[in-house]
Amino acid sequence: MRPLKAFINQASLRHNLAIVKQLTPKSKIMSVVKANGYGHGLINVAHGLSESDGFAVLSLNEAIDLREHGFEQTILLLEGAFEAYEIPIAAKMRINLVVHNIQQLQMIEHAKLNHPIDIHFKINTGMNRLGFDPKDAKDIVKSLQNKSHIKSITLMTHFATADEPRGVDWQFNIFNDIANHFNFSRSVANSASILNYKSTHLDWVRPGIMLYGASPIVGEKSSSFNLKPVMQLKSKIIAIQNLSKNDSIGYGDSFKAKNDMRIAVVACGYADGYPRHAPTGTPVFVEGKKTFTVGRVSMDMLYIDITNIPKASISSDVELWGEHILVDEVAEKSGTVGYELLCAISASIRVPMETLYGQK
Ligand SMILES: *Cc1c(COP(=O)(O)O)cnc(C)c1O
Repeated sequence: MRPLKAFINQASLRHNLAIVKQLTPKSKIMSVVKANGYGHGLINVAHGLSESDGFAVLSLNEAIDLREHGFEQTILLLEGAFEAYEIPIAAKMRINLVVHNIQQLQMIEHAKLNHPIDIHFKINTGMNRLGFDPKDAKDIVKSLQNKSHIKSITLMTHFATADEPRGVDWQFNIFNDIANHFNFSRSVANSASILNYKSTHLDWVRPGIMLYGASPIVGEKSSSFNLKPVMQLKSKIIAIQNLSKNDSIGYGDSFKAKNDMRIAVVACGYADGYPRHAPTGTPVFVEGKKTFTVGRVSMDMLYIDITNIPKASISSDVELWGEHILVDEVAEKSGTVGYELLCAISASIRVPMETLYGQK
């Protein structure tokens, strides 16, 4: 079997959730497990995060999958219903819907429901992605009060700059101006807002990336928030090449050895989710030592310098990210964020079932 695997550490998931709980003792926690649990496998992470009060996903299929695996918590569809047929199913299965535009409200109104539905009414306070215009929001929410097909309303918004100097107040004030007219529960904080702004914790918080042990804030290490990496992406050395001065390796000849070098070929490439943009010098960990990639990442292989690691040989384990190399370090070198690298794993290598509860 090809040796590339993403190990999912359940203990780290539980640890990171406990950190969120410590930070937000009065809030309910809606763990965001969209995009296949940020690439960690939806059901894998739901088990590790089973102490959550709710789970947020993108599609009805994922929500049903969670219910079928016995998760009884609140489940929220973050983009709401896409088609009318989804609404009665959601209502029956106690799946909450974001409502972010008039069309979705009309679909709910016209649905034939045997059970009333819980909605999260989303207000666009400046991110300009999803949500009702603040100018209309108050009147629309008023019109939804005491409607028999709506069981509960939670007011929500999403912050664009909780991880940047601009902060959240410019949006939070707009939200509060509307929410203060009502007695509904409120949900606004993502990971960055949980870490940076206590006043935003409210009834619900919606942590995502911090649960997976990566940092929501560029330049801040996840360890500085006492978060532990959940995914360890590991493979093995499958070939060793000895380079002489001026030899190149892989496609192109952008990399030229300055001296004699010992290079290992590792079974992991961009088809697996490793970033093709990772330049020479991106860190990896092998035989107890940090070293780095050289040359261009191939579809299914990459190359690392083991000149100074004599113990490294065929079949040596290589950590691409995880415990010793933070995914954020690889992301920064590659000009992206940990979110993108973690999510890309879902599209390529399956998180192996044998690691469902497994530790390394
Ligand atoms: C993805 C998402 C979150 C979680 O964001 P993180 O930065 O990963 O914590 C919260 N709320 C909404 C609406 C989201 O789409």
